[in-house]
Amino acid sequence: MSNLASDKIPGIQRVATTREVVEGLKKLTETWRARLALSFLLRKDKTKRTYVEYLLAMYRGEKVKAPLAARLAYPLFKYYMDKIIREFDVDKDEFLDTIEAPYARKVIANLLKGFKIFGVRVPFTSGAPILVVWDFTYRCNLRCKHCYASAGVNFPEMSVEERLKALDILVDAGVAMLALSGGEPLLGPGFWEVLKRANDYGMYLAMATNATLITDEIAKRLAKNGLVFAQVSLDSPDPKFHDEFRGVPGAWEKAVRGIRNLKKYGILVEVSMVITKKNYRDVPKMLKFVKKELGVDMFMAYNFIPTGRARNIVDWDLTPEERWEVLGYLADELYEGFSAASTAPQYAVVAYKRGLELSGKPMIAGHFYTIDWRSERFGSMLEFLGGCGAGRVYLALEPNGDIYPCVFFRKKIGNILQDDFEELWRNNELLEMLRNRDLLKGECGSCQYKYVCGGCRARAYNYFGDPLAPDPGCIYAKPSWERLLLELSGKVIPAHHPSDSRKLR
Ligand code: SF4
Ligand code: SF4
Repeated sequence: MSNLASDKIPGIQRVATTREVVEGLKKLTETWRARLALSFLLRKDKTKRTYVEYLLAMYRGEKVKAPLAARLAYPLFKYYMDKIIREFDVDKDEFLDTIEAPYARKVIANLLKGFKIFGVRVPFTSGAPILVVWDFTYRCNLRCKHCYASAGVNFPEMSVEERLKALDILVDAGVAMLALSGGEPLLGPGFWEVLKRANDYGMYLAMATNATLITDEIAKRLAKNGLVFAQVSLDSPDPKFHDEFRGVPGAWEKAVRGIRNLKKYGILVEVSMVITKKNYRDVPKMLKFVKKELGVDMFMAYNFIPTGRARNIVDWDLTPEERWEVLGYLADELYEGFSAASTAPQYAVVAYKRGLELSGKPMIAGHFYTIDWRSERFGSMLEFLGGCGAGRVYLALEPNGDIYPCVFFRKKIGNILQDDFEELWRNNELLEMLRNRDLLKGECGSCQYKYVCGGCRARAYNYFGDPLAPDPGCIYAKPSWERLLLELSGKVIPAHHPSDSRKLR
């Protein structure tokens, strides 16, 4: 934990620096008493729920059938919760609202498990992935030029029974949030069975979809089965551009119809746009369109990563300056209160600095979410959240059960049906490497924002074949970008995954 940005950045010191928060958390979680308490709180009953999830429900005043030991421990739990809330100056009503959803209690259990297994790290590592993005199927009704999964092909996939088993393994480990992706997840065998069972477990359920198949009836069924959030791909306000990029005429019209259907049934919709040289100047227009015409809740700018079919179009990648321009548009939207996010981890840096510039208060842009920036209290969270979450708080699962650090980081670390999932999470060498920002090389290694951002490890790996190399998409890593341009001229990006080696279409 050298070179922390919060030691130097104004704004954080007013509240608490990361070092101070780390010391506080260590005192709370690393004594022998605390470790005993954590073991107790993380015990599970046969419904796979931890004691702490029951205790948090009781703390909200809910009537739950908690195991006897948890009920007996409740007065002590309440005493400590009240003390923590007082001492950390937490708004109790806000906290009780936050833990209303069962998945929020799973997240807390997962964080505690992280402290128990890994101790207090910067950025933090959870006790199991908080989020798993499950590429549910390779099947797809579109043919997108940039598809990381090279979807639309007939590769072996898990059977429905195996998919349900995989889900049970994830829940057992403590995964709180599941995002079904693809291909088009709706075309995957067992989609509805998995969705229903995951909902019964109380997970946060999301899907990434092209929305072309989402009729009124499907949207209703998704809502009934607990889908909270849908990320819909839309690359431009211009139907012609989108249809060409997605490879099927009429895709734009159908996607927009799908978005309206999802909204009708109360599902949160985030429009996602893959940003390339071809469309980055359309981002402000697109933001206006999604807010005013579609009335969606969030916008996600996907970073370009040269994997899958996107290896064919590497010259579409943005320069660091162009990327900064896009992230600046998003930060301005965030400042205005709209949830504009990006998978480019540098966004955490851009948003943070923009917040300080505009109001003297930090804006916190996490990798998959944004936090109410008006609260100064969150300033010291920046280095805990930590930008790139690959292998640290998040994993990707393939239709055949293979596990990757991230959907864009296609280096297999194991298979959910063949390997011990929890053991992989604790001890896999690549994951441990990704969690340790002190190992980063080049510009990322010496960057004051390495704990805030960390660079996109998938871009580093896909461009340089080294997970610890600098991310050449960053304004602070210009020499690496220039080196890459020289190295790439006239060459094809090497394949790092078998699915990348087959004939690209
Ligand atoms: S140099 Fe690396 S760690 Fe620093 S901001 Fe850029 S991508 Fe992030
Ligand atoms: S490697 Fe990290 S930064 Fe890149 S897309 Fe995956 S999680 Fe995001």
